[in-house]
Amino acid sequence: MSNAEIGLIGLGTMGAAMALNIADNGFDIAVWNRTTSTTQSFHKDAGDLANRISPTETLKDFVAAIKAPRAIILMVPAGEAVDEQIAALRPLLGADDLIIDAGNANFHDTNRRARDAGDLPYLGIGVSGGEEGARFGPSIMGGGKRAHWDRVSHILHAISAKHKGQPCATWMGEEGAGHFVKAVHNGIEYADMQMISEVYGIMRDGLGMTNPAIAETFTAWDQGPLKSYLIEISAKVAAATDPKTGAPMLDVIVDAAGQKGTGRWTVIEAQHLAAPIPAIEAAVVARNLSSQRAARAAGEDLFGTAPRHMPHESLTLAALESALMAGKVLCYAQGFSMISNASDDFGWALPLPEIAEVWREGCIIRSAMLDDMATALRDDAERNLMMAPKFTTILKETHGSLRQVVAQAALHGLALPALSSGLAYFDAMRTARGTANMIQGQRDFFGAHGFEHIDGATDQNGPWGS
Ligand code: NDP
Repeated sequence: MSNAEIGLIGLGTMGAAMALNIADNGFDIAVWNRTTSTTQSFHKDAGDLANRISPTETLKDFVAAIKAPRAIILMVPAGEAVDEQIAALRPLLGADDLIIDAGNANFHDTNRRARDAGDLPYLGIGVSGGEEGARFGPSIMGGGKRAHWDRVSHILHAISAKHKGQPCATWMGEEGAGHFVKAVHNGIEYADMQMISEVYGIMRDGLGMTNPAIAETFTAWDQGPLKSYLIEISAKVAAATDPKTGAPMLDVIVDAAGQKGTGRWTVIEAQHLAAPIPAIEAAVVARNLSSQRAARAAGEDLFGTAPRHMPHESLTLAALESALMAGKVLCYAQGFSMISNASDDFGWALPLPEIAEVWREGCIIRSAMLDDMATALRDDAERNLMMAPKFTTILKETHGSLRQVVAQAALHGLALPALSSGLAYFDAMRTARGTANMIQGQRDFFGAHGFEHIDGATDQNGPWGS
């Protein structure tokens, strides 16, 4: 009794993997799960690690099995389950005992819980990498009081992914800062996945490529500057065969994407912050649209499909690769710019270079490009990534391909919501004089809202009434 260095509640997909990871790294851990049979089977299946794991059947026994001052990780669904667990645990804990919510909490909830905790130790940590990451090294984004993070950082560093030996586990700031960074990570993930699926659509419908040829293309791209976990798994998904029918897996999966809401939270928050993240917004909209299957089928009946097949000479695979490069840079530029906005708005000093570093391994958006992003942000964290020399060079080399791909897709009736909004962002961000002067004129015309004159005079009104 009282031997475990840490406790964990919630032995679902992520909690079970994380508990094994903690034990594997030499820490004794106590575990408790709402359904006791799960705790028992988890312990039975833990193999050599079982002797580092104390399975418990009541919360009282669980708390007693952990060394004081205690640290307890919650790995339960975000929302009410977290509040219920905190309410059940607190009466059993001492004033120094630390609760760590490691689920995908909305950062506003983490802010509230941190405030409700007052002086009682509380952390909210975002964990990315899915089951495999949780078991063998996730990327961890921490939020709460720095002193509380420091109490458990040796464990979190040990279990996290490593980039050239450096742990991908970092304290991001007070209260919900860690969960906020995780939400933006997920927003970028949505956009990255959407852009890859759009390029897949061009290969399938525009160029008429087979699934094995698409898989081969992604595999080749994974050897170059697009090297990333998402490209790697896209190649594997495209190559897989359905054991039920023998057909390519991609051909038997319904084209309606699920979501747990973290991308949506990012978009909602971006609107509150007035942070422009159009590629991420487009990706969330695309998922919503994908689920309207009946309406899409009715639309196809009514309007017919566009002649989606493209003549081969209109688009090369090299142009597609370049377009994806440009889209990816633009989507990350939007995500980091939003983090920078939030840092100012919420009074957090969010460490942008470290955020890029913490995403280099372990998480779903890990990619070769993040190393250069970390360097660019270390050089100047305030500057939009697309203006950093390395990425300016990439965009100068690739935006022509992005334009060509978007234009060809439009001509052939292929929807590219994320790539085309990435292109619109690029063009807007390099236009010193845009068109909002017309909007200001309209607003002043119907609402006398006033405008700023180009001579610098403010609160001006136009001659509309005369
Ligand atoms: P699972 O559904 O696999 O497991 C949920 C766990 O929480 C189970 O142990 C379940 O216990 C327990 N639980 C559910 N409701 C309650 C409750 N009201 N009170 C106490 N315990 C409860 O979920 P995951 O492991 O996938 O996810 C856990 C958290 O991690 C979520 O916040 C999720 O968003 C986040 N996450 C998930 C990722 C993933 O790839 N799956 C990636 C990153 C984060 P019981 O056995 O009794 O049902």
